[in-house]
Amino acid sequence: MPTLFEKIIAREIPANIIYEDDRVLAFRDISPQAPHHILVIPKKAIARIAEAGEEDEALIGHLLLTAAKVAKENGFAETGFRLVMNNGGDGGETVPHMHLHLLGGRPLAWPPG
Ligand code: AMP
Repeated sequence: MPTLFEKIIAREIPANIIYEDDRVLAFRDISPQAPHHILVIPKKAIARIAEAGEEDEALIGHLLLTAAKVAKENGFAETGFRLVMNNGGDGGETVPHMHLHLLGGRPLAWPPG
């Protein structure tokens, strides 16, 4: 059964997509927790970072670099941003398709709740 994010990749569900290449997709989170809240996801269906393998190393590097590029292109890299990947129940994961939260546009408290 395809996940919600696979349906977004396939354009079966609409999303505010702001970046795409052959390996990753970035779109605005439907419930933003900051002025900029963007999800960067691999097109490959990997449930979560704990399920990724050594063969995914380059893809995960590309995911991180893409997040930084999207922050720069959208004008909030200089003021700072945070990258978050939730893994499993205690991590707060709700969609079982690996994704990076890119948050910026306001000061973010630490530690997280
Ligand atoms: P996580 O809780 O880390 O698994 O993150 C899942 C994220 O997906 C949450 O921040 C949701 O707000 C977001 N989300 C759920 N449905 C959609 C959707 N249709 N379009 C964009 N973001 C979504």
